[in-house]
Amino acid sequence: MTQSYVIIGDGIAGSSAAETLREEAPDADITVITDEGEALYNRILIKEFAKGKLPEAPISIHDESWYDERDVDLRLNTHVTNIDTDGHVVRTHEDEDLEYDKLLVATGGTPTQLPVENSDAEGVHHFWTFQDARKIKADAETADAGIIVGAGLLGIDLAAICGAQDVEAHYLMRGDCWWRYALSEAGAEIMHDAMRERGVTPVFDSGVDRFEVGDDGQIRGAVDPNGDYYEGDFAGVAIGLDFNTELLQGTGVEQDGGVVVDEYMQTSVDDVYAAGDLTRFYDTVLGEHAQNGSWGSAKEQGAIAARNMIDAESEPFRWVSSYSITHFDFPFLSFGHPTIGDDHAERKYSDTEWRRLAFKDGKIVGGVLIGDLSPQSGYKRLMRDERVVADQKDVLMQKQFDADELAPAQEQ
Ligand SMILES: Cc1cc2nc3c(=O)[nH]c(=O)nc-3n(C[C@H](O)[C@H](O)[C@H](O)COP(=O)(O)OP(=O)(O)OC[C@H]3O[C@@H](n4cnc5c(N)ncnc54)[C@H](O)[C@@H]3O)c2cc1C
Repeated sequence: MTQSYVIIGDGIAGSSAAETLREEAPDADITVITDEGEALYNRILIKEFAKGKLPEAPISIHDESWYDERDVDLRLNTHVTNIDTDGHVVRTHEDEDLEYDKLLVATGGTPTQLPVENSDAEGVHHFWTFQDARKIKADAETADAGIIVGAGLLGIDLAAICGAQDVEAHYLMRGDCWWRYALSEAGAEIMHDAMRERGVTPVFDSGVDRFEVGDDGQIRGAVDPNGDYYEGDFAGVAIGLDFNTELLQGTGVEQDGGVVVDEYMQTSVDDVYAAGDLTRFYDTVLGEHAQNGSWGSAKEQGAIAARNMIDAESEPFRWVSSYSITHFDFPFLSFGHPTIGDDHAERKYSDTEWRRLAFKDGKIVGGVLIGDLSPQSGYKRLMRDERVVADQKDVLMQKQFDADELAPAQEQ
């Protein structure tokens, strides 16, 4: 019997699932539904577009013909409002009902709004879609002064956009350094210096209490919790994601700060799978549930979900993710889960070279490399192999790390 698969979301998780389904289930009916007006594009590259460094065309990954050629029914501008998991039916905002045998929820997230006065003013931007990038680019091109909020991986993109567009900016951070959950002050200082070189001034123990707005509704500046005022006719806010799970209300699908799935991407409800940023997945490397917001992980989860939708519990998700930043003269990479762990090792090698590894129960669970990425494959292999190595920090932190110098793995 022909199986029908419905995928909600045409980001990298949903799109990768559609591609895998078509390759491995040639006769299946496949529908992909997205509330965006354009088919899959490279979300990672929209920052380069907003910087003014890339035109629109290379950012698109699939046009509509890609779906036609694969006999995938793509529904653009279509929002799924709810799901009847007993009846196996998905309902759209136009009250159209679509039946499924297997359903994939790959709806990602929406940037969290800053809960302060005037955070909806003209010129205050959140960053997730290509449409956001177009608006950010247009505003940054005419702005003189900028404000950035959110000391994480997306906030630094907004800071880099200000730098590239010659907007003098203040980067208001809550703690004493950028991405304080993964970097120490020593590592973060390398990033701060790189920001300063681009005209972005980090401000610590700060944040935004309210935005000041002119009569025209345009942002003029921000007041931080210390009462200090920063001018800005452009602001970028990146303080996290709210997962797009409204459509799951009443379905009984378990959520715990994300949609809970097992290692096969199966939710707690039969025939409903989830993949991508919104999952709280069972990480077979860590041995516990975890979350990850990265392109490669979302792509792999989509493909794994597809295989398990075709053939239940046939392939588990096992992946060490990476996330790199290319805004500065030196490379930056984080891998795995650098913000967790019960132990860590770090070392600074030069003004632009620093490394930190996070361990849990003696095993590497993540890390951050600045300046020299060459040890990454060795570290990731140790993480995948779940080797206990925290007692050999000196070897791990050697500038030229050589995994062969580690004591042989013990039987566990
Ligand atoms: C500016 C920026 C830079 C980034 N840089 C990097 C990077 O350098 N490296 C890296 O690894 N990762 C990066 N990321 C993160 C990476 O892009 C995400 O982890 C990845 O795109 C998540 O894919 P996804 O398919 O899970 O979700 P999404 O890409 O968010 O896709 C979900 C889709 O579902 C749609 N949708 C939501 N609700 C509904 C509904 N009810 N009905 C229909 N459609 C719906 C959404 O509109 C969206 O199109 C970046 C993200 C951004 C925004």
